[in-house]
Amino acid sequence: MGRRVYLDNAATTFTRKEVVDEMLPYFTDIYGNPSSVHSFGREAKKALETARERVAKALNAQSSEIFFTSSGTEADNWAIKGVALANQKKGNHIITTSIEHHAVLHTCQYLEKQGFDITYLPVDQYGLVTPEQVKEAITDKTVLISIMFANNEIGTIMPIKEIGAIAKERGVYFHTDAVQAVGNIPIDVNELNVDLLSLSGHKFYGPKGVGALFVRRGVKIHPFMHGGAQERNRRAGTENLPAIVGLGKAIEIAVEKLPEHAKQVSKLRDKLIKGIMEKIDYVHLNGHPEKRLPGNVNFSFEFIEGESLLLSLDLKGIAGSSGSACTSGSLDPSHVLLAIGLSHELAHGSLRLTIGEQNTEEEIDYVLEVLPDIVQRLREMSPLFNQKKGGQLYV
Ligand code: PLP
Repeated sequence: MGRRVYLDNAATTFTRKEVVDEMLPYFTDIYGNPSSVHSFGREAKKALETARERVAKALNAQSSEIFFTSSGTEADNWAIKGVALANQKKGNHIITTSIEHHAVLHTCQYLEKQGFDITYLPVDQYGLVTPEQVKEAITDKTVLISIMFANNEIGTIMPIKEIGAIAKERGVYFHTDAVQAVGNIPIDVNELNVDLLSLSGHKFYGPKGVGALFVRRGVKIHPFMHGGAQERNRRAGTENLPAIVGLGKAIEIAVEKLPEHAKQVSKLRDKLIKGIMEKIDYVHLNGHPEKRLPGNVNFSFEFIEGESLLLSLDLKGIAGSSGSACTSGSLDPSHVLLAIGLSHELAHGSLRLTIGEQNTEEEIDYVLEVLPDIVQRLREMSPLFNQKKGGQLYV
């Protein structure tokens, strides 16, 4: 196989070797059920609680406030449906944004069908909502504000601390989907006044299929899965212990490495952004120029079809994405790109390249060498581009 450069770290990351090593014994030697009272069970339970403490420490939470789930998606579903159902006596209004991940948006749309009232706040050209918008949207019936920490497509970081302060002042629960933020931005749930926070193992070099929800003590929330008494009666089902152990180890390392990781990755991001802007005409950077995830690069290319660009890059061994992994495979333009005001054409001409800790400067140079030629070739085939250039080929 030829050269391969993975620049889709927002879709998922590799699993760190130290994480896999920590997980392995829980597939083989330590196989007890954490709910069993015998020594096998106690051994498993101990590992479960160590992982919980590690997650709690990473967020400055109490370990009794951490609940393991099967994914970031489940954590989002649980936070929103669980709070909505438990607080119906107070009200039926939820505030969110138009650029949330589908795990939040589709949950809100489902609740809307059940009679809940949802406000989808619009965002500005960078994908930001303002604290004032949130403040104005709160009514006597508002039970929850759910606003993502950082956007998975365009990398924009929301003003979480300011929104948290408003939620606290108005006595409304505040949930944030921090799936893209953990390991990239320091998080302290107390400083930020966050009441519920979702995270997912496979975005910070941990395993897939495991997540966690932070639920501040005292928050009224219904359980999501009904069954046994696991997770203190709140999330039934025998725990996926190897994955939970892996998530615990991964978050511990992620927090420890965060400053160095953010510095290294944002340096490569800035090099890639600068290089694309210098070498290619008719490009638009999507997302905020500064309030941006360290590894996120997202451009729209005029006169280009994002899918063709992706396929051409793939032939050169470069893995990126157009929109989010969950939406590729569908021909609808990204709801996030439309929400920041892009035309359908520009939304279709987008490319997301997300950098992780394994990427090197040399790999970025390779992308900057290959991408301009691909863009030029695709544009040469575009009648619209040729029209714009008065029949001249792009050189
Ligand atoms: N929320 C955000 C912002 C995401 O980026 C993702 C994954 O892409 C999810 C939620 C879903 O997480 P998971 O893949 O663990 O279900």
